[in-house]
Amino acid sequence: MSTIEQFDAIVIGAGIAGMYQLHRLRKLGMTVRVFETGDGVGGTWYWNRYPGARFDSESYSYGYSFSEEILKEWKWKEHFSPQPDNERYLNFVADKLDLRRDIQFNSRVTTARYLEDDNLWEVELEGGQRARARFLITAIGVLSAHNLPRIEGIDSFKGQSWHTARWPKTPVDLKGKRVGVIGTGATGVQTIQEVAKVAGRLSVFQLDPNWCAPLNNSPITDEEQADIQRRYPEIFQACASSFGGFVHNFQSRPFAEVPKEERLKLYETLYQDRGFSIWLGNFMEILMDPAANAEITEFISNKIRARVKDPATADKLIPKTHGFGTKRVPMETHYYEVYNQDNVELVHLPDNPIERITPAGVKTRDREYPLDVLIFATGFDAVTGAFKRIDIRGRGDQKLTEKWKNGPETYLGLQVSGFPNLFTLVGPHNAASFCNIPRCIEQNVDWVSDCIGHMLKTGKAHIETTAEAEREWTRHAYEVTQGLLLSNDAWFVDTDTADGIPRFLVYIGGTPNYRMKCDEVAAKGYEGFVLR
Ligand code: NAP
Repeated sequence: MSTIEQFDAIVIGAGIAGMYQLHRLRKLGMTVRVFETGDGVGGTWYWNRYPGARFDSESYSYGYSFSEEILKEWKWKEHFSPQPDNERYLNFVADKLDLRRDIQFNSRVTTARYLEDDNLWEVELEGGQRARARFLITAIGVLSAHNLPRIEGIDSFKGQSWHTARWPKTPVDLKGKRVGVIGTGATGVQTIQEVAKVAGRLSVFQLDPNWCAPLNNSPITDEEQADIQRRYPEIFQACASSFGGFVHNFQSRPFAEVPKEERLKLYETLYQDRGFSIWLGNFMEILMDPAANAEITEFISNKIRARVKDPATADKLIPKTHGFGTKRVPMETHYYEVYNQDNVELVHLPDNPIERITPAGVKTRDREYPLDVLIFATGFDAVTGAFKRIDIRGRGDQKLTEKWKNGPETYLGLQVSGFPNLFTLVGPHNAASFCNIPRCIEQNVDWVSDCIGHMLKTGKAHIETTAEAEREWTRHAYEVTQGLLLSNDAWFVDTDTADGIPRFLVYIGGTPNYRMKCDEVAAKGYEGFVLR
């Protein structure tokens, strides 16, 4: 019988969250093993290496903030850094903190069981290896379980084909090729604008278009670099006090108190500004008041019409089902101009649905599109998808996904009743799942580490949220979505519940409120948790 290794903590995932969690637990003197499916660190930035992948957060607001040394030594090259640099950065951090010796790569966790009699978690990996630990911490990502569409004949295609989240490490030459991209979310938009530069012919298969806005990226000059280095504390403070953990925060003046002419000038300025300015630096009312939303929606529609030469194509690129900002806004660089190129065609699926994928390409109702390469930018089974891929069982062999069949139930998005000593970093109903993610990851990891540190100091070996605290938090997580103009048809809503009622998967009460609540819980001796 093979031996079962035992650790103080097991962390699943070596992305931004898992890496920092390992570092913090080591500081507590704990033995830790991280299991990672990939063969390198980086999580999202390891897997998503598709053409054009880059941050939509300002680079200097995205890196870890906990280490002066890392902040000083790493210099971001662009305001919105591309994937190769982001992966390099995370490898730099892994080296700097000597993380790799506690990470087991090429290791997919398939099951995790709470052994009640021993108060231990036991995980099993693909291949049968098992390991045990007092604490189990999932750092498995919000957008890591990728979705392939259910289209007839998907396996029959004879050309090259990848989901964007499984793009190969070896270079792919798309020059002169006939390329198809299915999906026009943030990933599709980044891919399309890059592939259009080289493809012989690019066919974009679009269901519901998205409201996209300019990223306004540029290289970071030496002067800017010096300024960023000086202003790091200020930048992180701005993120900590903003709604979504970004450098952008909503306008302080109410929409109704600003004359329309001034509002339109402001939209113009924000449209020329970097990143999410136009969305999260706008009036908050655009996400609450239908009239305010209609105004910004019209402004962005006019931009699309001005940028796309063919009015019929422009019309197809303008969303009709939802207003601007009610889904996460894809950030673009000359995306709309791509449709002015001769080598690009927009296939609007509501008019011309895909019937099947054939060995030669994509067959829609009207015709077949022959392709050399087919790219699926079809998104993810978000937030809970990564949990569904692991058979997680708590007390009484209760299955986590069964407990969550009508939407997630958690306390602070960090713990689940019936699953003692399990912490879910960036879990459902956790502010980190709808945030400039590293900012919230650091908060999550710091909170969990402090909590475990407190347990070690006070001789506690068991922590579990109460069903009552969980019920109240779940109620609150849904309550804060009331009055917000958020689309029910976005990745952050689970529409596949057992009772058929769509449920929000993320916490949208704002990151400052979330942090305050977590701090308050800790200050009150971990109110809502039972520690023994
Ligand atoms: P997504 O927003 O869920 O978009 C998936 C796209 O695939 C949608 O356009 C969807 O159409 C389409 N689709 C799905 N099934 C389809 C089918 N059967 N046939 C045709 N089209 C289909 O996923 P994503 O683009 O990967 O983005 C998810 C999130 O990842 C973003 O919102 C963002 O938070 C994050 N992200 C961030 C960055 C960054 O810069 N840091 C980059 C990329 C992504 P419908 O919408 O009509 O269903």
